[in-house]
Amino acid sequence: MDQQLTGWYTERSPMWPGQAFSLQVEESILQKKTKFQKLEIFQSTHYGKVMVLDGAIQFSEKDESSYQEMITFLPLNSHPNPRRVLIIGGGDGGVARETMKHPLVEKVVQCEIDAEVIEACKKYVPSMGCGFDNPKLTLLTGDGSEFLEKTEDKFDVIITDASDPVVAADEGGSETKDGPAVSLFNEDYYTRMKEKLAPGGILCCQGENMWLHASLICRLLKKCKSIFPVVDYAYTCTPTYPSGQIGFILCSKNPETNFKDPITVWGEADADDLPLKYYNADIHRASFVMPSFMRKALKQI
Ligand code: SAM
Repeated sequence: MDQQLTGWYTERSPMWPGQAFSLQVEESILQKKTKFQKLEIFQSTHYGKVMVLDGAIQFSEKDESSYQEMITFLPLNSHPNPRRVLIIGGGDGGVARETMKHPLVEKVVQCEIDAEVIEACKKYVPSMGCGFDNPKLTLLTGDGSEFLEKTEDKFDVIITDASDPVVAADEGGSETKDGPAVSLFNEDYYTRMKEKLAPGGILCCQGENMWLHASLICRLLKKCKSIFPVVDYAYTCTPTYPSGQIGFILCSKNPETNFKDPITVWGEADADDLPLKYYNADIHRASFVMPSFMRKALKQI
């Protein structure tokens, strides 16, 4: 039954066992091993350019807006004055590109561990790499968790746009986590972010998939609730991410924050002007409505 599809890229991982996702490849653009991970970019037949890190799809040009716009504007539009923004990860440039669209943003610092991801996106995927061409951005390379420990700056919003840790099973069947993103999924990372948030500050982190990782999500949310007065969970629909969805963990230092109701409201006309492909105030509010199984899991935290 193991039918290899010739001319297709197939994504498989122990992180999502028993399933695979394939895209038809028109042309391979880049395949290299960086200091931190395996980096691939290819031209697909129907999803534009696609970037893969350590065997996990990071974006396709066709549906990246559903992720980049949501991870950016869920936190920015929940903050009354998001002037100073920190991005951890985000080496493709998508979150930086979206952050610059917000009229109140004055200064953006980004810390990405892998300079080769940044260079590859600038060179081969300018629709994403264009995010780095903005004078408001200070771009640094290094481990995001270490940066948080050292920096003396404070931020109104911190966005963590990280890849998943790489999961490997040893001969005895027990799982280990590896790869550059491990430090960003550790529970202490949330405490570090809180320390670097200004009063009333907000954070948003890539929050996995509820069909695959509900218990991991609940564990992280429980930890967040012990650190922040307001914690919430939202999700978006992105066809090229595992099981077609990805979530966001949102935390605020301000007990008055209501993530479900944006402070900055962009309706249809604003979305035309900005320009946004996916995000609007209605989808912001809707992204917090959970299916029953997840609502039940979240109630038990
Ligand atoms: N949206 C994507 C997803 O969930 O598939 C993530 C995309 S973005 C390309 C992820 C970035 O996080 C990568 O460029 C990776 O190099 C970076 N990264 C991973 N671990 C990191 C760390 N410890 N510090 C900073 N950046 C990190």
